[in-house]
Amino acid sequence: MVSRVIPVDPFDLVIFGGTGDLARRKILPGLFRRYCSGQIPPQSQIIGAARGEHSADEFREMVAQAVREFGGGRACEDGTLDEFLTRIDYVTVDARGDTGWSELAGKVRKELVNAFYFSVGPGLFGDLAERLHRFDMADDESRIVVEKPFGRDLATAKALNASLAKHFDETQIYRIDHYLGKETVQNLMAVRFGNMLFEPLWNSQYIDHIQITVAETVGVGGRGGYYDKSGAMRDMVQNHLMQLLCLIAMEPPAKFDPDAVRDEKLKVIRALEPVLPHQIVRGQYGAGPDQPDYRTHVEDPSSKTESFVALKVAISNWRWAGTPFYLRTGKRLKARTSEITVVFKDAPHSIFGAEAGRHRNELRIRLQPNEGMTLDVTIKEPGPGGMRLVDVPLDMSFAEALGPEAADIPDAYERLIMDVIRGNQTLFMRGDEVEAAWAWTDPIIEGWQARGEVPKPYDSGSEGPTDAVAMIARDGRVWREIKL
Ligand code: NAP
Repeated sequence: MVSRVIPVDPFDLVIFGGTGDLARRKILPGLFRRYCSGQIPPQSQIIGAARGEHSADEFREMVAQAVREFGGGRACEDGTLDEFLTRIDYVTVDARGDTGWSELAGKVRKELVNAFYFSVGPGLFGDLAERLHRFDMADDESRIVVEKPFGRDLATAKALNASLAKHFDETQIYRIDHYLGKETVQNLMAVRFGNMLFEPLWNSQYIDHIQITVAETVGVGGRGGYYDKSGAMRDMVQNHLMQLLCLIAMEPPAKFDPDAVRDEKLKVIRALEPVLPHQIVRGQYGAGPDQPDYRTHVEDPSSKTESFVALKVAISNWRWAGTPFYLRTGKRLKARTSEITVVFKDAPHSIFGAEAGRHRNELRIRLQPNEGMTLDVTIKEPGPGGMRLVDVPLDMSFAEALGPEAADIPDAYERLIMDVIRGNQTLFMRGDEVEAAWAWTDPIIEGWQARGEVPKPYDSGSEGPTDAVAMIARDGRVWREIKL
């Protein structure tokens, strides 16, 4: 039942930062899995590039270790790793110097699809773009892939966009938000626009509110220094949660075409109302068993950065006026789960009387773990006890519904890299989308800074600060429990 693997055209992919954490954990194992599936033609080539002095053989050994360590080997035949490694090369290159560039240029075959993955800090994006042109490696057909964070505010995002636009057209730039590569996220579009069932009800007349939760159990771990300059609003809300919000709220695009989809997402971001101080709660996790608190983790006893944020968002358009969206994300919460809950309104009149209680339809879309969907439907409680109503879930786990192959769905990075090679930008953020998202986020963060606001403490392993519960309770609603 899982869709057929269609091979992409042969390509040369250069991974700048090929020895880094992201390349080792995600990009290289992901490419290996696509190779195993037969999607990557054997004449393709993957070239790691970084400042480190490594021979091609040393880099191949690094790739082999990464594949073994990060689960690239599922469903792969013996010997395929050795075959894959013959497609790997390495060049020592400094993004800020001229070392290695001519050698790299000599290895990239222009007759194939060329893609350049910038898996390095954003401070190097402009340097890489400039040198790709200066060393005559890029042409109108080349693609560049850039990683998050794409700026830390509107000004830096604009500067990054401008530095790339000097050398590449927008149609060549692939800004990764790996959330968009998740199977369930794409399924949001299939469910909404492929079925007659939901779309007629998908508006403020029938939907009471929508909740989006992305909860993690881990703390900031070894990323404390980076995270403390960013916080949950920049690290999660401005990009991942915003993308989910767009897909759930956008109007139907005329066709499933990159710019048609991204135009509709942009309209959602532009229709977002400013968030007022009482509509947002920030939190910072406390110590847990054998775990330090946030401030110890980031080594700043007076840090005011949030590891949790919950907010109420309003979209000012005909479809959504009056239906709030509640967004929440945080670290060191009770369970690792990402889900969207669409809570429908009560039936206009209950023929069963007040004693039947209040029953609502809820559609829950689980992004992780166990990707799938559940629709709560109200039915009669079985048995002779009269007309008592009960809500039962119609549950569809993709792994159960689609068979064992569904458990082997490509990781988000695999899918997105294959989309780059195919030249399909639908699941990548456009420059104006990113800027619009920052334009909405900036005043919220500036407001906290101006007011000197300190995040509320919350217990490690809890559902976040009690103020977040109070925020939604003021509207007569409750958060869905954070659970697996
Ligand atoms: P990392 O582990 O620090 O790796 C950085 C890579 O860039 C290394 O290969 C490094 O090798 C290379 N590099 C650094 N300066 C260079 C230069 N001047 N010229 C050429 N290569 C250079 O970083 P990472 O975690 O892989 O992250 C890479 C990017 O992905 C960052 O933008 C990050 O924000 C983003 N990202 C990472 C993750 C993740 O899970 N790690 C998730 C989302 C986004 P040399 O030192 O040998 O040059």
